[in-house]
Amino acid sequence: MTIKEAQEAVDRWIKEYGVRYFSELTNMACLTEEVGELARIMARRYGDQSFKEGESHDPSEEMADILWVLICLANQTGVDLTEALQKSFEKKTKRDKDRHRNNPKLKA
Ligand SMILES: [Mg+2]
Repeated sequence: MTIKEAQEAVDRWIKEYGVRYFSELTNMACLTEEVGELARIMARRYGDQSFKEGESHDPSEEMADILWVLICLANQTGVDLTEALQKSFEKKTKRDKDRHRNNPKLKA
């Protein structure tokens, strides 16, 4: 599935099952909530926290939740995520093409 296809699929799902998009501010809060859920799993899996009984150990579900809400926000604010990601690659390449290679902290 391409990013464009994902944006179209989420839009179709919202129209068929979601009635309408939540407001942009509600979705922003939902995005923050989902990032927090991913942070909880990462802190337990890779950090010093331990899992509580019954908690999910799988970050993929939260990553998908984050992507879903981000796509909702893109759709309702008119952002083409394919184009935006391409621009981000260009920006990072121009800005950082030598920066990380020259960072001694990144060398083993
Ligand atoms: Mg979630």
